[in-house]
Order: sequence, then structure tokens, then C-alpha cells
Amino acid sequence: MAQRIIFATGNKNKMKEIRRILADTNLEILSMKEAGLEADIVEDGETYAENAMKKARAIAALTDDYVLADDSGLEIDYLDKAPGVHSARFMGEETPYSVKNAALLDKLKGVPDEKRTARFACAIAAVLPDKTELSTFATIEGFISHEIKGENGFGYDPIFYFPEYEKTTAELSEDEKNAVSHRGKALKLMREELRKYL
Ligand code: IMP
Repeated sequence: MAQRIIFATGNKNKMKEIRRILADTNLEILSMKEAGLEADIVEDGETYAENAMKKARAIAALTDDYVLADDSGLEIDYLDKAPGVHSARFMGEETPYSVKNAALLDKLKGVPDEKRTARFACAIAAVLPDKTELSTFATIEGFISHEIKGENGFGYDPIFYFPEYEKTTAELSEDEKNAVSHRGKALKLMREELRKYL
């Protein structure tokens, strides 16, 4: 029987990415909603790893299934690594990303390419049924583009230029993005960690 693993997110895009990445395991991946779990978790940690573990522990307290949680963000070097761990809250959670992305491009107006370095970072935390804790971390390095481009992905993807593909991550297909993204890499590392316990 497939082991159940609950991914502590309400974000449909993340669920979709995670299902694709863990498709070759025999894990049955459930969202919190599908598992009938609810938790109001305040992401007040100072690092992605702290926030991810905080979420995973909160859900693990409610279930004996495997629990996974992530925390991620965009770091723009020119802005002292902002919005960073505050990426989701930057300019308010309800503000559309078209507005947030335009505001960030504005802050970087006239900044030359070599100073537009940025990265997406992602920490994944897992709590196993015996409450063993695991965590992984990965980044994807790129640049803040000069214009909003691409329809795929979510969040800050339309302004994150990935030099290897000469495209923004919003111009990549799902499979292309999963192969190179912070979340894809951190999840693959977690998949390897989990294999030791499954
Ligand atoms: P959280 O990990 O759900 O707390 O929020 C991370 C925030 O960082 C998201 O809401 C996005 O704004 C941003 N972010 C994280 N990963 C990505 C990505 O792959 N593409 C675009 N934006 C991302």
C-alpha cells in the first residue's frame, strides 16, 4: 500500500510541482485539505529552514502520516536579499504578482545586468511517523530581468531570468522548471533522504 505523505501547503501550484517530482515514488501525496487537516501557522522564522520545519511540526502534531513542508523565497542581491523569507508577504499577500513584479523592476531601474543577480531558495522539511526530522535546501541562481515575461509558473517567475535557458522561469515548461528549480532540487534531495526510511 502506498505510504501517505501530507504536503503542508495550500498552494495549488506547489502541489502540482510536488506531485510531478515525487511521481516515481510509491508515495500517495495529499494536500492538507485532502487529508482533512487545518492549521494556522505563522511563518515568523528567520530562515527558510526554520519556517519549513515549523510548518512540518505543526502538521505532524495532528497526524501519524509522513509530513512535508517547504518555505521558499526570492533573494535579490541589489536589495540586500529582499524580499527573501518575506517573499509571500512582500507588499501584502493579496497584492497581485503583476503589481509586485512591476514594483521590483522599478526598484532595479537602471541597475546594470551584473548587479541584478538573484536566486530562488527553498528549504524542505519532513517529519516522519516516528517524528524523525529531515531537511534539505537548494537554490537556483539567475538575474532579475528588465521586463515581465512568460505565462507559466507563479509568483516572481516572470521577472526571474535563468541564464542557462536564456528565458525567465515563467517561460519554462513545468518539466523544464522542475528539473532546475530550487524546489525541484530540494525535493529531489528530500526524495533521496526519504528513500532511506521508506
Ligand atoms: P512560501 O514558501 O509559500 O512561504 O512563499 C514563497 C513565496 O516566494 C511565494 O509566494 C512566491 O512569491 C515566491 N516564490 C517561491 N518559489 C517561487 C517560484 O518557484 N517561482 C516564483 N516565485 C516563487
